[in-house]
Amino acid sequence: MTEATWTGKRVTVAGLGVSGLPAARVLRGLGAHVTVVNDGDDERSRAQAAELEALGVTVRLGDGATLPEGTELIVTAPGWKPDKPLFLAAAEAGVEIWGDVELAWRLRGPGAAPWLAVTGTNGKTTTVRMLASILEAAGLRTAAVGNIGVSLLDAVLGDEKYDVLAVELSSYQLHWAPSLRAHSAAVLNLAPDHLDWHGSMEAYAADKGRIYEGNQVACVYNVQDPATEALVREADVEEGCRAIGFTLGPPAPSQLGVVDGILVDRAFVENRQKNAQELADVSDVNPPAPHNIANALAAAALARAYGVEPAAVRDGLRAFRPDAHRIEHVADVAGVAYVDDSKATNTHAAEASLAAYDPIVWIAGGLAKGATFDELVEKSAKRLRGAVLIGADRALIREALARHAPEVPVVDLDRTDTGAMSAAVREAARLAQPGDTVLMAPACASMDMFTNYNKRGEAFADAVRELAPERD
Ligand code: ADP
Repeated sequence: MTEATWTGKRVTVAGLGVSGLPAARVLRGLGAHVTVVNDGDDERSRAQAAELEALGVTVRLGDGATLPEGTELIVTAPGWKPDKPLFLAAAEAGVEIWGDVELAWRLRGPGAAPWLAVTGTNGKTTTVRMLASILEAAGLRTAAVGNIGVSLLDAVLGDEKYDVLAVELSSYQLHWAPSLRAHSAAVLNLAPDHLDWHGSMEAYAADKGRIYEGNQVACVYNVQDPATEALVREADVEEGCRAIGFTLGPPAPSQLGVVDGILVDRAFVENRQKNAQELADVSDVNPPAPHNIANALAAAALARAYGVEPAAVRDGLRAFRPDAHRIEHVADVAGVAYVDDSKATNTHAAEASLAAYDPIVWIAGGLAKGATFDELVEKSAKRLRGAVLIGADRALIREALARHAPEVPVVDLDRTDTGAMSAAVREAARLAQPGDTVLMAPACASMDMFTNYNKRGEAFADAVRELAPERD
């Protein structure tokens, strides 16, 4: 897209913040007439507004609902719900709506780095980081970007030259990115999440499935999660693009999988009916929990689709270190392990980590985001020594425990203040016996009590330290 396209164009940026600020700056820099609309009108947004106004951007605080006169395009923060009055007004006026990812995609220059894209309910960040690690091991210039906290706009417009990008995309970002076409893409898994935003499971799945649209080389799906394969079948892809499965079992042709503790490629090899290529040992994956091996296989599939050699897959996986608050072992106190999986913000993620320990004292609760807990509790009941519940929607978990695990002792902390985590950890320590794991895998979002899941994880780790000034 040329500068001429943008000069004088009336663009409304919906939402200040992580994506709105850079979008407004970039669009203004291209010569567009930019108006930012923002629901909030607090001190922080006023400071951001002042910064933008100095560049010639108009900012309307405290009114995110009215469509500014003459708007030709809206660039929205991904989290804004499609049923907002602003978007209804835009639809009526025939105004197009792009998200931050769509904007980055449209603004990338000629010969820009192709995107290897990852979405899914859980495992996105881990997989994208593994993928970047593998690409780096192959000597490629790359970065892990997108929903991971690194702006795609910066990656696309910055001075750094990349060969290929490892891109994490959320369902919201995909919803607002109609023309994105990845080199190859993976949907890791699909479980109910963010249904209050998307409206239904079908709408959520459809937004995730957009990641496959127009793929050039490979659509990577999870053999153990048929819903992901169904999305591949529905996608309209480039001629010659292949469906590549990953599985924790032995791989069929056109799949990656596991044979005798070895990650094996039967997709990107000569004569895949007969041949298989060893990529790495299961023990090269850190940590080698089943769900994480699945992430490693998905990352390997995307890297192999891009032409990376097997040795780089192994080296990249070995070099990878997981991020904080993802099944992070905090300390052992009095023979009990304390594990922080604050990033388990939905039931599907919590199920994966609850499956990795036995017996468990489970700390759970927060904002349920429309989820139900019966299946999770039913599957995990046998492993539970006890449960400690915190947060706004804890009653939903308490009721599921009463239905499916009536014998499990439950402490219901009627608190949503940040100090509740200390109390929760003390209660969990009381319930735990030597050899147990106290697992904070809340199955809920954190925002009722904490700024974000990082803060929740830190509160947990602090509380564990209070419990044990001296670690074992
Ligand atoms: P995302 O970026 O999708 O939120 P993360 O890699 O940050 O994913 O992991 C989020 C949570 O999901 C972690 O708590 C982790 O234990 C769990 N998790 C990671 N990978 C998977 C997977 N493949 N299936 C289920 N749960 C997973």
